[in-house]
Amino acid sequence: MANILAVGIATIDIINRVNGYPHEDDEIRAISQSIRRGGNATNTLVVLSQLGHQCAWSGVLIDESDAAIVKHDLDVHQISYRFCKQLSTGKLPTSYITVSKSTGSRTIVHYRDCPELDFHFFSQQDLAGFDWIHFEGRNVDELDKMLRWLKTHYPHLPCSLEIEKPREGIEKLFPLADVLLFSKPYVLSQGYDSAELFLQSLSLPSLMTCTWGETGAWLKNHDVLIFSPAFPPNDVIDTLAAGDTFNAGIISGMIKQLTDEETLSFACRLAGKKCGQEGLENLL
Ligand code: ADP
Repeated sequence: MANILAVGIATIDIINRVNGYPHEDDEIRAISQSIRRGGNATNTLVVLSQLGHQCAWSGVLIDESDAAIVKHDLDVHQISYRFCKQLSTGKLPTSYITVSKSTGSRTIVHYRDCPELDFHFFSQQDLAGFDWIHFEGRNVDELDKMLRWLKTHYPHLPCSLEIEKPREGIEKLFPLADVLLFSKPYVLSQGYDSAELFLQSLSLPSLMTCTWGETGAWLKNHDVLIFSPAFPPNDVIDTLAAGDTFNAGIISGMIKQLTDEETLSFACRLAGKKCGQEGLENLL
């Protein structure tokens, strides 16, 4: 088991479940509503902690009423937030999410009034006790400095980088991470409609993965490309955070030194299980 730090955001997710996704200008009633902590980095940590790892989050935590939702959830999963920058003013990022019962799709409107974690704060942290650092691919210029600083000060500390969506200049970060976790929307934005062709187009020493929804996912290590199909649950209930769950499976598989095939298959199984249930609790 390992000590893992994830750098990224925690959000408040307000989730409305509906029978079918509405047309524009419709008025419909939600079947149910839940309010919970979200955010890619912290989602991945919740899964990693269930897989037996010691987890900590580094991000911006604002001292406002909704922070209790985030802190409570992190406490429940024994995820430390002592590497967070704590601010007394502002509002935590909030995601308004509509989940369709008929398809399992999730449509998200995001609002944030919260600064991104800055390099200066990150560089003041003592990372000596960590075995792995995972980054959400956002705030490119600060992240560039963080990744370079990590390579200089902790050259043997492996790091993974999630590339979820296109952001200006994000490609300059690719050579700085040991593991690159790509999503379908990013790949489509680059003009590729195939994960395979996209991964083959990159010649980097990093291990790379690319998820493709209910199709499954690919992994490329040096020049070897492998595929795992998805593992569909009996009923697709909620695909929110499937990618974050997959990423946790990849990180854990690599830490446990599973083979690439075992790691990819494990990550797809875990993500498939997540799609068959609401939320991230009791995935094992
Ligand atoms: P994201 O949550 O970032 O949109 P994806 O939708 O690509 O990510 O899903 C990540 C992984 O989750 C996929 O590679 C697949 O293994 C699994 N997955 C996603 N949707 C389904 C589904 N409907 N059934 C089974 N597995 C799924």
